[in-house]
Amino acid sequence: MDKFKILVVDDETDFLETILARLKKRKLDATGVTNGEAAVDLLKNQLFDVVLLDVKMPGGMDGIEALREIKRIQPLVEVVLLTGHASIETSIEGMKQGAFDYLLKPMKLEELMSKMAEAFEKKSKHDKKIREAVIKDLTQQHGSTPSGE
Ligand SMILES: [Mg+2]
Repeated sequence: MDKFKILVVDDETDFLETILARLKKRKLDATGVTNGEAAVDLLKNQLFDVVLLDVKMPGGMDGIEALREIKRIQPLVEVVLLTGHASIETSIEGMKQGAFDYLLKPMKLEELMSKMAEAFEKKSKHDKKIREAVIKDLTQQHGSTPSGE
């Protein structure tokens, strides 16, 4: 998981700082923002592998709206929703809209690490398939050039 870029989006700054400190302690490349708008702005300029997204955030953009925008901007990023007991239904809706999975807060660090590893594995396989398809496409285009020219 070394080159793995993580974005954590949560309005609770204590929670956000704790998670970021723990991920950084494990030498992971983690960035944090406190709202959906900031997450969307960042994703327009930087590629991430996994986004940990709080579903319950005050203000303009809620978790589900942020999820939709995130998947629109970076369709290949895997999103793990962070949810409280009261918002499990929102997470289920989020999973229908393309989130990888959800975690119930407060979660143990090990649980978070293993969920992120699963998400990262899925993304890596997906990226690899796309690279292979691109190579195949290029090879076929090259192969169709008449020989003897
Ligand atoms: Mg929240």
